[in-house]
Amino acid sequence: MPIYEYRCPACSIFEVISPMGAASDQQSCPTCGQASQRKISAPNLSKTSSAAFQLIDSTHRSASEPQVVSGSLPRGAPRRSQPYTSNPLHRKLPRP
Ligand SMILES: [Zn+2]
Repeated sequence: MPIYEYRCPACSIFEVISPMGAASDQQSCPTCGQASQRKISAPNLSKTSSAAFQLIDSTHRSASEPQVVSGSLPRGAPRRSQPYTSNPLHRKLPRP
């Protein structure tokens, strides 16, 4: 969903996430409650389609819209810790 920006005359700019086309021209400020006008800003479009920029975009997006995981972890055999080394002499070393 798009993020709409509103400018409060008393406080500052705040953001509201609402469905496309459902944002009103005015919104009450969450801090002081005053009527705030919607601010027109440039859309956050990717400038390139390279893998590096896609990673940067997804990283920025995950800050405000983290992906929600539904369900639980798959059940199966209990996890065994992976040995770091196969050298049998390392088993005698003290463990943390
Ligand atoms: Zn305000």
